[in-house]
Amino acid sequence: MEQFIQKLRSKGISVTPQRLAVLAALEHRRDHPTAEQIYREVRKQLPTISFNTVYKTLEVLCQKGLIIKVNPLHEVARYDSRTHSHAHLVCRSCHRIFDLERELPPLKLTPEELPPGFRVEHQSVIFWGLCPSCQKNQSH
Ligand SMILES: [Zn+2]
Ligand SMILES: [Zn+2]
Repeated sequence: MEQFIQKLRSKGISVTPQRLAVLAALEHRRDHPTAEQIYREVRKQLPTISFNTVYKTLEVLCQKGLIIKVNPLHEVARYDSRTHSHAHLVCRSCHRIFDLERELPPLKLTPEELPPGFRVEHQSVIFWGLCPSCQKNQSH
């Protein structure tokens, strides 16, 4: 808990039981859960919390950079407690998301190749493919 309290304080956000529970629920997961899955986890600790509160908490933590949102287009948002620059591998069939452990250097873009006035905020790299179990399912 102490580490989560430090994290919140370092970003100047007040420490609440809700925020602590959401950070704790995300910390050890590597499956990039949805808000719904995090909600189910957090409810074990805080039975009266609403989905809306969990969702808003996730948004605040994203805005402050304490977690990141992995957002494959046209899919529900998935959340990640690992905020270093890493690529994701997404199974196009079951939508499982895996981390690429290697840290990726940011691509250098020149102002000339960007739409005029566009300000890049972060780089997200996604590799699409089929996970081993979906490959197995497809072969028979
Ligand atoms: Zn799959
Ligand atoms: Zn990740």
